[in-house]
This record gives sequence, structure tokens and C-alpha cells, in this order.
Amino acid sequence: VSHYLQNITTKAHLNAFVEVYTQSSLERAEEIDEKISKGKAGKLAGMVIGIKDVLNYAGHESNASSAILKGYQAQFTTTAVQRLIDEDAIIIGRLNCDEFGMGSSNENSTHGRVLNALDESRVPGGSSGGSAVAVQANLCTVTLGTDTGGSVRQPAAFTGIIGMKPTYSRVSRWGLIAYASTFDTIGIFSRTVKDNALVMEIIAGHDEFDSTSSRKPVLHYSELLHFDKKVKVAFLKEAIESPALQPEIKENTLSVLDKLTAEGHEVKEVKFPLLKYLLPTYYILTTAEASSNLSRFDGVKYGYRTPNAHNLESMYKLTRSEGFGEEVKRRIMLGTFVLSASYYDAYFTKAQQVRRLIKDFTENLLNDFDYIIMPTTPSTAFKFGEHSGDPVAMYLEDLFTVQASVSGVPAISIPNGTDNSGMPIGLQVMANSFKEAELYSFTNYLS
Ligand code: GLN
Repeated sequence: VSHYLQNITTKAHLNAFVEVYTQSSLERAEEIDEKISKGKAGKLAGMVIGIKDVLNYAGHESNASSAILKGYQAQFTTTAVQRLIDEDAIIIGRLNCDEFGMGSSNENSTHGRVLNALDESRVPGGSSGGSAVAVQANLCTVTLGTDTGGSVRQPAAFTGIIGMKPTYSRVSRWGLIAYASTFDTIGIFSRTVKDNALVMEIIAGHDEFDSTSSRKPVLHYSELLHFDKKVKVAFLKEAIESPALQPEIKENTLSVLDKLTAEGHEVKEVKFPLLKYLLPTYYILTTAEASSNLSRFDGVKYGYRTPNAHNLESMYKLTRSEGFGEEVKRRIMLGTFVLSASYYDAYFTKAQQVRRLIKDFTENLLNDFDYIIMPTTPSTAFKFGEHSGDPVAMYLEDLFTVQASVSGVPAISIPNGTDNSGMPIGLQVMANSFKEAELYSFTNYLS
């Protein structure tokens, strides 16, 4: 703990942590030392973990990096976080992110931007940028982030670490401040597959507070990392041939596929005609869900309330106008539009139907193949400001990550070399729902 606290201080300018629980984590460390000496410590004894600023932690502030939640104190603890604590992990602080998890660069945060530790003129990715940089810069061992459309995998790729999004419903969402409830997952950042697998086996599993959480038994992923079989791997033609794909990323991805073929695995190109519908489907459905989820922030129940109101109506309006950032407002408007009476069928219903097609295609493909491999992102970490004036360019960054989110299947990003400027490249591997163990063992073999 002292080691990490020291690093957090020296690297404070990266702006990964928005709050450090200095005193309580030092005290916890002593308690756990005591437990260890008595042989009574939990499975994560002494593991130092940071949590994204969208996870409630009782007695602590939680802002979702939004001005509208300034001063909000969590009344309860996120199930995933509680399970870490129960196994004697040490929660060292909360981590910066894009407001309500909306963004791909961590530039939309009331706490300011987070710097990529490898090149401080570049973004760390988003929305879980702080969670990624905390692991990248050695500010703690593991972090929790959330992944709705890529927010764990994309920043992991941009910072050269491992980022895992589990199957939707594998980890309870209780305590996670919602962005888009049918997409939201809690994911894990780490340096090694083993640490990731170990933390996943602790946080996964049914929770009576989240009725959508799965009752399927949780395996001991960290003990199932051995890999010695021949597998079938698909890659998607439209993805690998995408004009948006940076050449070095294409090269590095193809060389992994070549290596797998050489080792006797079956690798096959598959056509994916739905690729062009991924982003529209994702952005219609997530903005619709966000506009509904964010209606609870009205100045009455949580956090910020405008001091400028003169009646109830203006209290609502001004609180929301002053409290929400630009990107969040854009999404509330988009979501409200696609849900409006005259456009509901044309956008929301249609997108639900396309979601089903994408999910069926992906699951069927993953019945025929063990894994789908593709790049995590079309480009490596871009410069600050490069996309911030152009929301559509920013949304295009999520091209490869949203398929797993729309389909609910698990996906992981692992480091796969660097581009010509030395920035890390991510390789994404997807497997069918609840195949976390298979995903971990295969990526452990690849890395
Ligand atoms: N960049 C995507 C978005 O802004 C993903 C966000 C996320 O996964 N939380 O919606």
C-alpha cells in the first residue's frame, strides 16, 4: 500500500485517481497483515485495487465524473466491490472516467482529463481511462472499470494492458450507476491474465440485488489457465478490411492469425455483413436507455441542486442544464428523440430487431468456432482534442468493441505489440456467453 501511495503521489499529474483512501487503506493493510499471520486471510489478501467513479462504495463520494453528482455520498456498496473486500482486497481509491461512462477518450470528465502514461499528449481511452492508467502506471495492482460498449477493452488497448468484459449478467450490476442497463458490465484491468481471472472468479455470480444476474455456477478461472488443445478461430472479413483500420494494427492481428495457423489451429475468414449496423444499433439503444436512466438526476434525490431556481420546473431544468456535461446532454437528446412517439418504431424498435440479428449471428458463429479474433480498436491512442469536436469520429472508435456488447458475449483485450510511434496495439478475443474460462486460458496462451 505504501509503495502504491508513493507512486500515486509521484504520478498525480496523470489524474487517474480522483480520490485516494490513504488512511483507510493503510489501516486495512495492517488488519490484513494480522490476518495473514494468523493464516486467516481471504483469497485476495492484500491485493490493492482501485475502482471506477461509477461504483457506489458506502460512506464514500461517487460522482460518475459528473458535476450533477458532486457531493453525493454512496449509501451502499456495489456487490462486486463488497466481494473484493470480503476476500481481503484493499480498495485504495476511486478512478476518473468519462461522465456516466460516455466517451472513448476520458476527455468528458468533471475531474479533468486523464493522461496516457506512455505519451502524455495522447488519450488513455475511455470511458474507464483512470482505471486503465492506474494499472499502466503501477498505481495499484488491479482496477475495476465498466464496459458498456468497449470502455474496459479500448482503454486497455490504448495503455498496453489487459482488459476483460465478462458476459452480460455474469457480474452483478448492483451499485453501478447505470448508463445503458442492457449493456452495462463491470470489467477488470490487470497486467496479467492470472490476476484478471482471479478477480473475476470473486466478483462473478448471482446476486439477490440484481435479478438479471446469472445463476450459472462460477468456475475457478485462475486455476483453469492451462491450454493445450487445437481450436477453431474465426476472423471477420469486413473488420480486417475496414478502411478505418490502422495498417500496423491489421498487420499485427494477421500475424497472430498466421501464427495460430502454423501451430495447427483452424483459422477461417468469415463474412460479417452486419458490421455497418453495429454502431447505429449500439448508439440508438444506449442513448435511449441512458435518457431513461438519467431522468432520476433531477436535483431532488442526489448530488447537485441549482441555487438559481425560482420554482419547481426551473429547479429541474437548471439543475440538469448546469449539472450535465455536453456529451451527456447530446445523448439524452438523441435518446429522447429515438423514443419519441413518432420515431419510436423507426429507430428504437428497428434497432432492437437489428440487435437480435447481430446477437444471433455472433452466437451462431461462436457455436461453430471457439473464438473470434479481431483488433480491439481501429487506431492506437490518439492525441487529445483529435476527436473531441466531432462526436461521430469519436463514436467510430468503438467499431470493434460494440459487437460483444450488443450480443452480450464476453471479450478481452490483450497487448499485441506496438505501432510505429511505439503506442500499444490491442488484440480482442471473443467467446460465447459464459465461456470466461476458455477466454482466459486461450489469451493466457497467446500472451
Ligand atoms: N465509447 C462508448 C460510449 O461512449 C463505450 C462506453 C462504455 O463502454 N461505457 O458509449
